[in-house]
Amino acid sequence: MPNIVKNTTFPGLFSLLAPHSCRGCGHIGQPLCDRCKNYIISQHQNLCPICRQLSPTGKCPNCKNLPPIFIVGNRSDLIGDLIHVFKYNSVRSLAVPLAEILNAILPSVKNPIIIPLPTINRHIRERGFSHTELIAKHLVKLRQNAKLENILSRQRNTVQVGSTRETRLAQATTAYQLDPNIKISPKSTYILFDDVWTTGASLQAAHALLKRAGTENIIITVLALSQ
Ligand SMILES: [Zn+2]
Ligand SMILES: [Zn+2]
Repeated sequence: MPNIVKNTTFPGLFSLLAPHSCRGCGHIGQPLCDRCKNYIISQHQNLCPICRQLSPTGKCPNCKNLPPIFIVGNRSDLIGDLIHVFKYNSVRSLAVPLAEILNAILPSVKNPIIIPLPTINRHIRERGFSHTELIAKHLVKLRQNAKLENILSRQRNTVQVGSTRETRLAQATTAYQLDPNIKISPKSTYILFDDVWTTGASLQAAHALLKRAGTENIIITVLALSQ
C-alpha cells in the first residue's frame, strides 16, 4: 500500500518539490502514480450523497427519487486534491487517471452516453479548458460503444460558489437547458458527470431535464463529495 500523505496535512507540498511528482506519495514521474490511483479505486465505498448510507449498487434504498449515483470519494481526501490541481493549476494530464478511476467504479452499461455538466464560459476562458468535458472525453475512450454528447447548456453565467444552499437549489432549476435538436435514445444509458457534489442541485436539475425529455436510464457520477 502506498504511503499516501493526506493533502490536508501538506497542501501542495509535492508540487513545490517537483512539478511532476505524484500528489499521493511524491514519487517522481506523473501527477498520480499507478499505485496511488489503484489505492483510490480499492478504497472506494459508494455512499448516497443525500442520506450517506452505503449504496454499493448506486441506487439508494432510502432516497427513491434519485437515480443511481456513483461517487469516488470525499473532497477532503486525495481525490479532492487531484480535482483542485487539475482545475486550478491546469494539470491537464490528470484527466486520464481521473477518467480511469471513474471507469473503474462505474458499472458496465450498454451504449452509454456521457454528458459532462457544462462549466460556465468565464471559467473555461480563465482555465483554458472545460474540466468536466476533458475528463468525459477520456472516459468515452475507456467505455465500449460510449459517446459524449454536449446536449446540456447553461442558461446564464451564474456562479454557484459561495451561494447559500437555498439560492443554489433555486438557481439550478433554471440554470440548464437541453439542446432542443437532440433526439433522446430511450435504450441508452445517460451518464451525467460532474467533478464535485456539493448540494447536488445542478445534477438533480440536469437529471430532471433528461427525464422530462424521455430518458429512462440515467446514472449520475461525480469524483468527490463535499462535506
Ligand atoms: Zn503515488
Ligand atoms: Zn440516500
